Amino acid sequence: MNHYFKSTPLKAQIASILMACALSSTPTVFAKGVTDADIQNDTTTPGDVVSYGMGLRAQRHSPLDKINKDTVKHLVPAWAFSYGDEKQRGQEAQPLVYNGKIFVTASYSRMFAVDAKTGQELWQYDHRLPDGILPCCDVVNRGAALYDNLVIFGTLDAQLVALDQDTGKVVWKEKADDYKAGYSYTAAPIIVNGKVITGVAGGEFGIVGRVDARDAKTGKLVWTRPVIEGHMGYMVDKDGNKKDNGMTGDAIGKTWPGDMWKYGGGATWLGGTYDADTNLLFFGTGNPAPWNSHTRPGDNLYTASTLAINPDTGKIVWHYQTSPNDSWDFDGVNEFIPFDFEKDGKTIKAGAKADRNGFFYVLDRTNGKLLSASKFLPDLNWAEGIDLKTGRPIEKAGMRPGNPSDAKDGKKGTSAFTIPSFLGGKNWMPMAYSPDTGYFYVPSNDWGMDIWNEPVTYKKGAAYLGAGFTIKPIHDDHIGVLRAIDPTNGKIVWEQKNVAPLWGGVLSTAGGLVFTGTPEGYLKAFDAKTGEELWKFQTGSGVVGVPVTWEQDGEQFVAVPSGWGGAVPLWGGDVAKKINHLNQGGSLWVFKLHAN
Ligand code: CA
Ligand code: CA
Repeated sequence: MNHYFKSTPLKAQIASILMACALSSTPTVFAKGVTDADIQNDTTTPGDVVSYGMGLRAQRHSPLDKINKDTVKHLVPAWAFSYGDEKQRGQEAQPLVYNGKIFVTASYSRMFAVDAKTGQELWQYDHRLPDGILPCCDVVNRGAALYDNLVIFGTLDAQLVALDQDTGKVVWKEKADDYKAGYSYTAAPIIVNGKVITGVAGGEFGIVGRVDARDAKTGKLVWTRPVIEGHMGYMVDKDGNKKDNGMTGDAIGKTWPGDMWKYGGGATWLGGTYDADTNLLFFGTGNPAPWNSHTRPGDNLYTASTLAINPDTGKIVWHYQTSPNDSWDFDGVNEFIPFDFEKDGKTIKAGAKADRNGFFYVLDRTNGKLLSASKFLPDLNWAEGIDLKTGRPIEKAGMRPGNPSDAKDGKKGTSAFTIPSFLGGKNWMPMAYSPDTGYFYVPSNDWGMDIWNEPVTYKKGAAYLGAGFTIKPIHDDHIGVLRAIDPTNGKIVWEQKNVAPLWGGVLSTAGGLVFTGTPEGYLKAFDAKTGEELWKFQTGSGVVGVPVTWEQDGEQFVAVPSGWGGAVPLWGGDVAKKINHLNQGGSLWVFKLHAN
């Protein structure tokens, strides 16, 4: 039912409509509220952006072409909106656009609604955060989900909050988990057939990763699926009774020693994608806990993996593990993007993932079978390649940090220098796929780390690593590289280097453009075919947000948040020292073509 009419008797509704029509010369238009169809069709409806990823497949490609290779030189700011406050830090969100409003989340679990044309603030929501929250990697938020008249997002104290799109008032609020145990929430939820689908963050605290489905209108849990072998999933019926939904994996702790599976990590901290063709959710899982792999011999399923999950039941349909017995914090959370390609006259239903471990994987998305794997980091040194038969990495000797119990004092194992660093060949920042060029556009980083292991035991709410590390640059002239990758052969088609690490998302358009931001403050546009830089604009602080584009009243707009922060300044070791001059900020920039 139309949200506007929800609590109003029918006669009163009709009376109010007649009144509105009588008083106004233009007919009154009521927003109908975001529907499942709106979300499913998001990619092909450029008048709005109603999902994270600009469509549930998260290809981040827009059919708009008014801003193109020829016209992009006329792209100028339409307005900029400041988030205000002393609270700044990383602004990693992707804005949503609906019904003439932009909804954007900001650091410290804030949300703003802004008039899309004028930049005027409509409302602001500040989530009250308790003391003692445990976000590992800055106080960021990556975006919201729209459904009906709600805008839904997760908070650093591990709650899900649904606000009224018109007023910013709380409609429902649900606790996802216990922030004191290290749980938090930073990803953008997605909506699939009326369910809001979320993961959890907290992999550095020995939490257990899982995927939850809730009724998007009420917030009530529908099913939950832990991602660590041995844990039980359950469904909740309409009376609130829990119903066993089977164990994750084949047997308790089969690929874990002893009780290690109980605090096994596998945080699903980046959220997921969905493919209507196969009716599958795709969620990546983070590192096994603790980082010290000598404490947990075995594959440690299903950490550092891609999982395909049935959205109706919460059952795992297939899994593919990218880093078995991970020793480097190579979280496998990176987005898995469904796409099709032609091979030998057949359409292959595939999906691609640029993994934190530096390999670009293409899988058959119907069954999880590996089709190809290539290095998108040419300097990658921890593995020779991926065995296409077994799907497992061919590890190089000496690239795992040593066991601390082999050390004389039993305290610090031997160090290894690995490429990439634990912040990854690619971290959270989403890539884009252009069906026009057939390329993926991957925001990547060339860097390495010294890493060593130390003894560790689990304690609730304490970092559960058993590792020390220093991240280091490996080239004088750059760390960040935007790379265009041809998924049919794994070749890097072009690349554009950047001095600072890239930490923002990518947008591709039918105008033949690829947009992304830099920590140095620029939003840039590149030629999607050649990589030539065609346009840039200095936003005043580092751009680590995710750009989007849409059309309103015949004009094409581009929006991106600006505000330097995220994991790099906090964890970046020698890299952080190189970039500590970059200024923080917090604003939303919107661009359009200058009227000639
Ligand atoms: Ca749309
Ligand atoms: Ca991690």
